[in-house]
Amino acid sequence: MPASITPSGPLKEDNAPLDELIFADEPAGDAVPASAAAHCWRILVVDDDADVHSTTTFALANVEMQGRPLVFLHAYSAAQAYEILARESDIAVVLLDVVMERADAGLQLVRRIRDELKLHDLRIILRTGQPGYAPEMDAIRGYDINDYRTKSELTRTKLYTTVAASIRSYEQIRALDVNRLGMEHIVAACAELMALHGARDVALGILTQAGKLLGQPPEGVLYCRDDGGAAAADSLRALAAVGACRHLDGRELGVQRGQQFAVAAGRALRQRDCGVDDGLLSMVFAGKTGREFVACIPLERELGEVEQRLLKVFCGMVAVCLDNVELVTRLNRSVFHDRLTGLPNRNCMVELIDKRLATSGRSESVLALADLDHFAETNDALGHHFGDLLLVAVAERIKSRLDPALEVGRIGSDIFAMLGDACALEPERIQALFREPFRIDGQDVQVSSTLGLVRLLEHDGNGADALKDADIALKRAKSQQRTGHFYFSRSMGVEIRERVRMMHALRNGFQNGQLFLDYQPQVDLATNRPFGAEALLRWRLDDGRLVPPDRFIPIAEYSGLIVEIGEWVLRQACAELMRLRAAGHRDFTMSVNVSQVQFRHPRFLDMLRRALDDTGAPPEYIELEITESMAMEEPAALVEKLAQVKRTGVSIAIDDFGTGFSSLSHLQRLQVDRLKIDRAFVTEITGSARGGSIAQMVVQLGRNLGLSVIAEGVEDERQAQILRQLGCPLAQGYLYARPLSPEGLLEWLARNRASRAA
Ligand code: C2E
Ligand code: CA
Ligand code: CA
Repeated sequence: MPASITPSGPLKEDNAPLDELIFADEPAGDAVPASAAAHCWRILVVDDDADVHSTTTFALANVEMQGRPLVFLHAYSAAQAYEILARESDIAVVLLDVVMERADAGLQLVRRIRDELKLHDLRIILRTGQPGYAPEMDAIRGYDINDYRTKSELTRTKLYTTVAASIRSYEQIRALDVNRLGMEHIVAACAELMALHGARDVALGILTQAGKLLGQPPEGVLYCRDDGGAAAADSLRALAAVGACRHLDGRELGVQRGQQFAVAAGRALRQRDCGVDDGLLSMVFAGKTGREFVACIPLERELGEVEQRLLKVFCGMVAVCLDNVELVTRLNRSVFHDRLTGLPNRNCMVELIDKRLATSGRSESVLALADLDHFAETNDALGHHFGDLLLVAVAERIKSRLDPALEVGRIGSDIFAMLGDACALEPERIQALFREPFRIDGQDVQVSSTLGLVRLLEHDGNGADALKDADIALKRAKSQQRTGHFYFSRSMGVEIRERVRMMHALRNGFQNGQLFLDYQPQVDLATNRPFGAEALLRWRLDDGRLVPPDRFIPIAEYSGLIVEIGEWVLRQACAELMRLRAAGHRDFTMSVNVSQVQFRHPRFLDMLRRALDDTGAPPEYIELEITESMAMEEPAALVEKLAQVKRTGVSIAIDDFGTGFSSLSHLQRLQVDRLKIDRAFVTEITGSARGGSIAQMVVQLGRNLGLSVIAEGVEDERQAQILRQLGCPLAQGYLYARPLSPEGLLEWLARNRASRAA
């Protein structure tokens, strides 16, 4: 028997039980068209007994549930039912006989409906003909069955109630489902929208997603209204239009005009809501960023209540998306563009250089930085507004007079970057831009620039590195000749990067205790009796390697780190002096090197006094070594400072003496105590004619000025002998001892004492 459908027949007045079988006509027909399904409830009757089919349809004839009529589908075996269920959609309820082809055919079908066909919304009412025959309840419990009745139990009323309950339950499940699917869809749609860039893409995306949500092809227009200005309030601009509305793309739409779209959009904007008007859906997306968007979408059908609710949710979510897209766009602009000139900023230039480095064009490419000379002064003298105008004028001139193919950006307050072909960026060409004055606020301003350039062919880093290199070249150009230019060379970069690297390493090393002091004894040349030691700073890396002081001390000075390190050195040396004194070496002096940066520091004297106080070191046994070159600079200030230092009781030696150009009068005004003959002059002592040696002059000078003299770097007995003959009283050098650890110094002192006693 073919599966068939019967529209519900005339309603029978009485409540006759179903076993009173009534035969009804069964018009042939395979399926109810899907569109009809939305307006009726489809019920599948599955039973191998034809009479059951007719009684069922008769019992429920002309009945409406939730305002919709019932439509029946008929199957006479489990297999046939399966086939129908696999083919048809929107079947709400199955009235299913348990015993058919086999005793468990009905139960088997339930399992297949849920597990194989995955029809979970469908409601199932099980019926059995044999009273007392109950299938295993456990077996059916897992299959979501709405009701289980014997056929005799199901009077017409009971049948009506159970079918009605099942339909209600089906409707609820469906609504939930639509909600869930709809929400999933909206969330996915917004995620897709967020990934789009640019207002137009987003606008097209909204129309596409709305179409998907409505289950129709993309159709409609998305308008945008800027807040600001009365004129804008009246006109909407189409950001995107698709489908049959495509011709409206980009057009303005006066909301005052009487077109259907204008009316719908205007109303939606006033109500700030979405609504359907004569087959036209309008949705407003009102965000926080001031702009409003409204979509007008012609509908192919009416919308259900659930759908309308979902569309409102969609509107809210899209508004949030649009806010975020606007923010991201603005953020992008500020992250990549300079507000003042509208040119790409440093971030953007880095990207552009990266791109260029990745192309074959890099071989002929140059990155040039142009720094406006004395811009800060101009800014201070004429005001920031004037400075801003000048920068804009410079930007315009660069853009208009150089090769338009160049990438031009502003990467610092007064630094412009240019990227492009080498021939377009020859230094003379760039400099020529500044030959003519700039006219700002009716005034002519003459500006010049300094250039730093990098040839990308020679560059082996990324975009950010290239900018750094150009910056290094720029600094070099500035320090060497103003209004000049300088091309970066690899050696410059390596040297400077290495310095920066070492600066970080030194800072860490200092904090992690990698620094320590060695002490080199100083002796009386005549008796070999030690009278003091020089504290020498050491840096041992974690891998055991020593970094020579000549390498790291200039970096400590250059970075200012020497101020902190120097204080630590002084305290360490004072503390060591105290230990030596405690060990019986009471007539012993500690010499500490002080660099210029340290000495010039405004708190130097404070620092010195506190170090002496805190450690208890007697100032008369502390000597500070300053270099001769340092003693030459800023005579007046130095004289004063040295006088203050002397008042603390500490004495002063001039290190590396003979390498500078101290004038005698100058030296006399400085209150120093001792001169240290530089090692170089001690070394040459054995080679040169005795009388003319610098060492000899220094010794004489010291004698004339009443200053003590010490020769440093004495390596052999011959040097010591000559120095003695010259009348040099004191010495220091490998001949006596290398720089020693504190323990090494104590041992050395003990040995020296013993050998002299012997
Ligand atoms: P400097 O003050 O002229 O120190 C003397 C340098 O000569 C030391 O080198 C020492 O090890 C070395 N020396 C001593 N006797 C001999 C010798 O007989 N032959 C040879 N060839 N060399 C000898 P060092 O320790 O490498 O120190 C180098 C420089 O580092 C020092 O020169 C000083 O200018 C600076 N320095 C060391 N420690 C400090 C410190 O704590 N503070 C500051 N500001 N500078 C320091
Ligand atoms: Ca020294
Ligand atoms: Ca020295």
